[in-house]
Amino acid sequence: MTESRDGYRGERPETIVVGGGVIGCSIAYRLAQGGRRVLLLERHGLAAGASGRNGGMTGAGSSLHSAAGRAVYALTAANLALMRDLPQELGADFELRLPGTLDVATTPEQHAHLVESVRDQQASGQDVHLLDRTEARALMPALSEAILGATFAPGRGHLWPFALVHGFADAARRHGAIIQTGVAVDRLLREGDRVVGVEVGGERIVADEVVLATNAYTPRILPELPQGAIVPARGQILVTEPLPPLLPHPFGTNFDKEYGRQTVDGKILCGGYRRLDQDEGLGHEEERTTPAVLDGIRRCLMELFPDLRSVRVVRAWAGIMGFTADGLPLIGRFDPLPGLTLAAGFNGGGFSWAAIVGKVVADLLDGRDPGFDLTPFRPDRFASGGTAWSNPFTAGERSHVTGAPALAGPA
Ligand SMILES: Cc1cc2nc3c(=O)[nH]c(=O)nc-3n(C[C@H](O)[C@H](O)[C@H](O)COP(=O)(O)OP(=O)(O)OC[C@H]3O[C@@H](n4cnc5c(N)ncnc54)[C@H](O)[C@@H]3O)c2cc1C
Repeated sequence: MTESRDGYRGERPETIVVGGGVIGCSIAYRLAQGGRRVLLLERHGLAAGASGRNGGMTGAGSSLHSAAGRAVYALTAANLALMRDLPQELGADFELRLPGTLDVATTPEQHAHLVESVRDQQASGQDVHLLDRTEARALMPALSEAILGATFAPGRGHLWPFALVHGFADAARRHGAIIQTGVAVDRLLREGDRVVGVEVGGERIVADEVVLATNAYTPRILPELPQGAIVPARGQILVTEPLPPLLPHPFGTNFDKEYGRQTVDGKILCGGYRRLDQDEGLGHEEERTTPAVLDGIRRCLMELFPDLRSVRVVRAWAGIMGFTADGLPLIGRFDPLPGLTLAAGFNGGGFSWAAIVGKVVADLLDGRDPGFDLTPFRPDRFASGGTAWSNPFTAGERSHVTGAPALAGPA
């Protein structure tokens, strides 16, 4: 980048966004589109964090957060609606495909959960149906005859995450945002309780507002967050060689802990099995794959789709998510520190939130009512509510610990 960090068209930035993942780039785009002078700072490269390491599943709704379910659904449904227009709006093909997703049950316990979950989701207005084995296999014939059933959620689907992040970033630049990579923010610049900018390598960069879109790494910059509010969680993915069309729908299984899809160019991508990682991946920031997890994912794929038994795996990677104590992201102004806004802790699903979060944050900063109930996402909620996780493995999800893997587990 040629732009000077301490200047913006000769003036200081109005808003500094920290973090060049999907959330930070979406926010930078909306703010710049609204006419703000935006400076985005990313310590590595765009999409170098979770946003470039994920599975690319996207959808609306959740069966996980019953209390906040309606608020989650309102935002994620609005996100999905925005996503449909984004390829044209951004002028970016990020391979969005929305054929509907299948959540597959392979054990009686999972099946009972699916039945319950469909009831909850339908009660909150979501379009989800329960399918028996025959119906599920009619939609996706490659599924094993051993499955017990599935849910089908029309309208959900998948995308190419890297291309969406760059689509947001390019559009932000076109609206005048300055994006600098390789720039790590060391700390927030404060005057009393007010945040007035950031510090980078001893340099002070002053702005009216700072937005932290730093996901798992937010506690490092914001020590005020109670310990355990956002915790790094390592996830792993493997990818097969390109294959002819086999999986018309993305899938999840075992309470959504395993998931996968076939990309537009034919590769099959599958992730999950964090429970076979050291400490279930929790607390780990090292982007390192582990043989046990990859083996679990491989076995899951083979058991769900017997046709994949002799397929070659060509790549694998690990990425770091930001898990929150209650499984919900932190979105909004951080009341204890005026001048600071948070959009972090998107757990395993940031691509179902990013587009709408960009709009919501722009609305908040410009003094408009975003039109959503943001109460469940208040960034300072853990200061009063505490951060006791009902089940660290599920990180705020429903407490379904099966002990044994759903399908044939690793030897
Ligand atoms: C293996 C895996 C599979 C996943 N699968 C899916 C999926 O299928 N669907 C889905 O929706 N989600 C999935 N996720 C989760 C999803 O990737 C995240 O929710 C989403 O990317 C969060 O975006 P973000 O912009 O908040 O965070 P990130 O992409 O992590 O971005 C944060 C950025 O902040 C930067 N940063 C941190 N500290 C500083 C600093 N001090 N100074 C400057 N920059 C800083 C980091 O370098 C990073 O680039 C998955 C994640 C992983 C790891």
